[in-house]
Amino acid sequence: MKPFSPETSSRLTFQTGVRQTLLDITEPVADKIRRRGFQQGVVHLFVKHTTCVLTIIENADPDVVQDLLRRLETLVPRHDHEDRHQEGNSSAHLKSSLLGSSLLVPVQNGKLVLGTWQGLFLAEFDGPRTRTIELTFLPCS
Ligand code: ZN
Repeated sequence: MKPFSPETSSRLTFQTGVRQTLLDITEPVADKIRRRGFQQGVVHLFVKHTTCVLTIIENADPDVVQDLLRRLETLVPRHDHEDRHQEGNSSAHLKSSLLGSSLLVPVQNGKLVLGTWQGLFLAEFDGPRTRTIELTFLPCS
């Protein structure tokens, strides 16, 4: 077992390929934890962007992801002609604010503590874009 590194942060970068998508980032995050030798505590994930977010949702059936995107479109439809924001992506900003920019996930024995069907996702609502996630490792003794 490697000791906890005094460096407590790291980054992951992803490229999204379409306007709206959810990327399963569970394995890349788990890999960062393994490589760091982080054993016990919580990992905080944060995106510094305004049209993408982090969320936890079922990762077993890909239809769940598609249903989330479809229902968010129903909840916050893209009516760019009605919005005042000149960039034309207010619906993407609104969807992002509904889901939130960060996650806090426990880590035990070097592994993410997730339910059987839970996966960590980066959701993009105005891609394609390059997105960076800031990770902060918070040890618990
Ligand atoms: Zn905008």
